[in-house]
Amino acid sequence: MRLSLIIPCYNEQEVLPLFHRKATQVLEKMGCEYELIFVDDGSKDGTLALMKDLAAKDEHVKYLALSRNFGKESAMYAGLVNAKGDYVAVMDADLQDPPELLPKMVEKLQSGEYDCVAARRVSRSGEPKIRSFFARTFYKMVNLISEAEIMDGARDFRLMRRDMVQAVVAMGEYNRFSKGIFSWVGFRTGWVEYPNVERAAGTTKWSFWGLVKYAMDGVVSFSQAPLSAIAWFGLIMTAVAAVMLVFVVVRKLIFGDPVAGWASTMSVIIFIGGLQLFCLGIIAQYLAKTYMESKRRPHYIVSETNDPDAEKIR
Ligand code: UDP
Ligand code: MG
Repeated sequence: MRLSLIIPCYNEQEVLPLFHRKATQVLEKMGCEYELIFVDDGSKDGTLALMKDLAAKDEHVKYLALSRNFGKESAMYAGLVNAKGDYVAVMDADLQDPPELLPKMVEKLQSGEYDCVAARRVSRSGEPKIRSFFARTFYKMVNLISEAEIMDGARDFRLMRRDMVQAVVAMGEYNRFSKGIFSWVGFRTGWVEYPNVERAAGTTKWSFWGLVKYAMDGVVSFSQAPLSAIAWFGLIMTAVAAVMLVFVVVRKLIFGDPVAGWASTMSVIIFIGGLQLFCLGIIAQYLAKTYMESKRRPHYIVSETNDPDAEKIR
């Protein structure tokens, strides 16, 4: 059995050596063949230099430096494309995905019951309350409207069999929402639960708005529900307007036509106008995604690596 760990890194110089030490400790104890694939996602600090350093000292270390910051999803993709192991795991560099869980995950996978073992944090301690609230609401909403089931608290940390990795890589979409992709490809998933761990060092790469955008991408990538919702909404509004029209005509025939209600008319016009722009905005979200998909740009570009067989553009 050969194990590949993929670690996407963006400005992680504070934790990288610590991660390498901890992960190596665990892996050596497991006694299996392994490789560590560090993907430098266009870091602006000393991350890449540290990776080269580690690669020089440790033959298990492979690094892929992307030509710029492509985002975690692309960095993960680069790692998945180039992983050679029978079992492949994706992990964050900041030790929020504890390497100590690996032996348990491997054991679970070897039992033959599962094709993939994913980690799920069962608490959100140490996270701002408001962030937890929005995260929970997001998971509830997404599961209600999308075709992919996403577990609350599931991280991208998961150990997969070769077959599943191939399936994930074959999902060639440009707008990658891994949580959805993992669920969409199917296979039998086992869960390992653990309490939340705070970042070992360095800072999170997510701003609040970054997360909101991520959530919106998740919905657009895996659900057509907003599109059907606005169609139904339009239909209902039309029906209401028709009833009102009948009412106005009948009132005119019976009571004559007193000119009144300018303010209410204006507010209805503005309301409808706003609603139309909002719905147009939803359609535009899908259109923008379609536009990006239709360009068929590569997911990542590797500018430097110590792996001669690496696929540099895909
Ligand atoms: N990351 C990346 N590219 C980015 C942003 C983040 O490769 O553009 C990596 C980052 O280095 C880390 C992982 O993705 O290993 C998760 O990032 P972070 O810890 O900031 O996210 P959080 O755990 O707060 O959700
Ligand atoms: Mg983190």
